[in-house]
Amino acid sequence: MNLDKNEIREQVKQLLSTYPKLNIVKSDNSTIHLAGSIYVYRNALNYTVQKNYMVEITIPISESNTLPKIRETGNVISDNYPHRYQNGELCLETETSMRLRFIDGLDLVAWMDEYVEPYFFSYEYYTRFGKYPFGERPHYLDGIINTYQDIFHTTDFIETSKLLIYAAESVYRGHATCPCGSGVKLRNCHGKYILPFALDKRKRNIAISDLNFIRKEISKYE
Ligand SMILES: [Zn+2]
Ligand SMILES: [Zn+2]
Repeated sequence: MNLDKNEIREQVKQLLSTYPKLNIVKSDNSTIHLAGSIYVYRNALNYTVQKNYMVEITIPISESNTLPKIRETGNVISDNYPHRYQNGELCLETETSMRLRFIDGLDLVAWMDEYVEPYFFSYEYYTRFGKYPFGERPHYLDGIINTYQDIFHTTDFIETSKLLIYAAESVYRGHATCPCGSGVKLRNCHGKYILPFALDKRKRNIAISDLNFIRKEISKYE
């Protein structure tokens, strides 16, 4: 997700023209801080959200694969809403999912469009109907596993674990038996979902770091 500083500044300009009530409040060598309000106008499942939200956005500009962070500062999001971290940041999606999405570089306008705006839509929908319009991502280890369930198109925990281990650690062989346990050749089974990790080292590294994290966390309970 490496972008140079000029690229990020150019993206911030675009973001500010898309959301004219956002302003740069602070900018240094490592981050750009934005604050103000964003207008969200979204319609899905016969429900419409049309509302301004006060937010603070922190955009990292130094190296790293750190994603932007956003807080809602207008006290709209209820204190007991589960998808907000203790420090007030909004829980938009798993790191895994967003890092894979922006593997070729962060796109701030897309980040707003695909994660931030749907977050507020989901919040309003949840508040109104008591359920999530696009499903709900669990947190911590469950959240990571759940992300890979989506990626590998499986709902089974063991299957997902086997596929993740393969994606992170094995050399891809289409004629090998699929690690999911089906007995079918990989290329005719989950191969197409694993192949991107074999072809792109950056994606593989995400799988490796997730697998390491899962193993480390699980070892705490041994
Ligand atoms: Zn969450
Ligand atoms: Zn399979």
